[in-house]
Amino acid sequence: MFDIDKVRADFPILSREVNGKPLVYLDSGASAQKPQVVIDAISRAYGDEYSNVHRGLHFLSNLATEKYEGVRSKVARFLNAGSEEEIVFTSGTTEGLNLVSYGWAVDNLQAGDEIILSVMEHHANIVPWHFLRERQGVVLKWVDIEPDGSLDPQRVIDAMGPRTRMVCITHMSNVLGTVVDVKPICAAARDRGIVSVIDGSQAAVHGPVDVQDLGVDFYPITGHKLYGPSGSGAIYIRAERQAEMRPFLGGGDMIREVTKEGITWNDPPMKFEAGTPGIVSIIGMGVALDYLMELGMVNIAAHEAEVAAYATKRFKGLNWLQIQGKAPGKGAIYSFTIEGAGHAHDISTILDKKGVAVRAGQHCAGPLMQHLGVNATCRASFAMYNTKSDVDVLVDALELAHDLFA
Ligand code: PLP
Repeated sequence: MFDIDKVRADFPILSREVNGKPLVYLDSGASAQKPQVVIDAISRAYGDEYSNVHRGLHFLSNLATEKYEGVRSKVARFLNAGSEEEIVFTSGTTEGLNLVSYGWAVDNLQAGDEIILSVMEHHANIVPWHFLRERQGVVLKWVDIEPDGSLDPQRVIDAMGPRTRMVCITHMSNVLGTVVDVKPICAAARDRGIVSVIDGSQAAVHGPVDVQDLGVDFYPITGHKLYGPSGSGAIYIRAERQAEMRPFLGGGDMIREVTKEGITWNDPPMKFEAGTPGIVSIIGMGVALDYLMELGMVNIAAHEAEVAAYATKRFKGLNWLQIQGKAPGKGAIYSFTIEGAGHAHDISTILDKKGVAVRAGQHCAGPLMQHLGVNATCRASFAMYNTKSDVDVLVDALELAHDLFA
């Protein structure tokens, strides 16, 4: 059962004021707030249970290792991975995608090979592939979105050719809220021997994900958007792909033996985790995932859909508000501009005065901004702790911004 009042009470920051007004936090697409259980877990991990992991034989090192390693099975359960060995800890989706690039793509792609991307990818799912273009002559093939902001899977499939080696597509746009039907894309890729990389940074926060059902090869997630600590994340890597990968970072933990003559690598997933990891961040992420699984991702999705339906209804009454992206079934992420109202930064400053936190800018999505023909937008991104009354406060603040600027 999803009890919104109880959920809100679990997040201490939601009861604070900003600029003398109750906080309405609509920037969870950038980073989500943390429930008390996560804050307590961080404090306990440092205050009572801290030590480095893996290398010690003493009590605290064993305890920290147990807590840290215990998170792997939680992530596996959260994503329905076949085994916890397929889960590699990262600092977030950016690191996960760079691991794919340096660990898999550098060795497996040659000049002239193609990577398919959509125009609505986040820079984290663009820049590592541009590196390959610059260094190895890999070709980036861009797929357009439809006028309503949806991505037709068939367009992606039609772009697959004899030189295509990878397809890198977001599961949910961080700007438009579009949810992409990635399963047929992964299936078509698999049929053609193409590797699929699905950016789960946004989608995993808003509903259940089943990587086995999707049939995906690489699926990174972001701990700090999943109500966990910053600097935490993970990536699902199908076992078959792991076997084709080289480590990305070299150092302690990822090796079995080092001599003057050479090295032998550790088994996956350790093979891909070098040096002292973000121990406490990962432990905190595990607690956040427990919290989410206890609430139920299906229940979270249902609550968010209700708030989104209300927001869509309220926004319809504002004929000067230009919302980017109206794909059917889109999530509660709204990027907008106000007709005649100057820069998105000015609008967000007015909203901030009313206690409403939104983001303004390009949202790490330069090619999408190019495609839409806008310099910047404001973005209100909702999370499971937002309510219809947050929508009302946002709409009042938007009306004020419109009166002032337009
Ligand atoms: N991909 C998408 C769609 C995102 O929204 C973000 C973060 O905003 C990222 C990737 C980068 O994630 P991280 O902050 O975990 O590196």
